[in-house]
Amino acid sequence: MTIRSIEAIPLGIGFKQTFRFGTVDRTRSQNVVVRIVTEDGVVGYGEACPVRAFTAETQQTVVALIDERVREVVVGQNPTLVRPILRALAPRLVHCPFTLAAVDIALWDLAGKLLGVPVSTLLGGRLHDRIEVHGSVGWDRPEAMAEAALAQLAAGYRTLKLYAGRDDLDADLDRLAAVRAAIGPDPRLIVDVNGLWSVSQCLRALPRLEGLGVVLLEQPVAAWDGPGQAEVVRASRIDVCADEAVYGPEDVARIGRERTARTINLGLSKLGGLARARECEVVARAVGLGVTVGSVLELGIATAAGLHLAAAVAAPAYPAYLVGPLKYETDFVSPAVAVSGGEIAVPEGPGLGLAVDEERLAALDLR
Ligand SMILES: [Mg+2]
Repeated sequence: MTIRSIEAIPLGIGFKQTFRFGTVDRTRSQNVVVRIVTEDGVVGYGEACPVRAFTAETQQTVVALIDERVREVVVGQNPTLVRPILRALAPRLVHCPFTLAAVDIALWDLAGKLLGVPVSTLLGGRLHDRIEVHGSVGWDRPEAMAEAALAQLAAGYRTLKLYAGRDDLDADLDRLAAVRAAIGPDPRLIVDVNGLWSVSQCLRALPRLEGLGVVLLEQPVAAWDGPGQAEVVRASRIDVCADEAVYGPEDVARIGRERTARTINLGLSKLGGLARARECEVVARAVGLGVTVGSVLELGIATAAGLHLAAAVAAPAYPAYLVGPLKYETDFVSPAVAVSGGEIAVPEGPGLGLAVDEERLAALDLR
């Protein structure tokens, strides 16, 4: 039972509408599907979703790294040796977590299929069959954000993430207030600033954010300014989450020591996959930080991996962010992500529990 081949498939898929967050406008995808095949023809699927705000990797570099650095390590290996293979790959993919995540996901999918168990079982067994998720509304005009928020709530979410930081502070706070006025007092709001506020802007914003009932403030200060964000944490009665500041367990340990956040965003793409995400979760527990499973709005393969991860995470601090496939024009896996009562079912079946429509995948292949 050895790996025969690994292939990187660059995809061309658009977003249903431009999604604005931080300084990024997402209209087209940069996703790459990684397909690992055994000698017996069993296939594991992974996905890279490089997003500029988190990595300098691109669709082209993911494909090149798979061809030039990953293939020679992976081919000929026993695919159930997931962590040994990832250990061998890590020094070849320094600062390329999105490429590593794609290989990681494909290996877990493959190992699960070969052993006849879901990925969540390989992660120690699922604690949850359904995952509570939050919706999101990209940065936009206040009326457009309010309208989008209402549409999201009609789909069943109980918590929404809004983005801020692009406009001047008061204008962005007015946007959040417009959404709150439209949706009423009950839905919970998470605000993600993607590191765009200064410490003094945060300190000015906190009373208004509290008044708007914001429950979580994500990466308010630039990722490099730990001491600055620690000042915000000390002043804030709203939980502060670290996202762009977390790329691995050593970051989580430092955030715990320096108290630069109270929770961390456990997004498997930026962390380099499921194995490293689990390491981050363990360290977060050890240093007293909450964890929430995040994403960069990936397609169905990486989102399913996120669902298996979330299934194995005890007591998440906030609902997970695993609704990427709903933002794209199309996908090529089933079951498709479906939100019901603000929750998504973790796929059943071996590996990721997905069926990939190879014809549709071929139609999206940019090669
Ligand atoms: Mg974030």
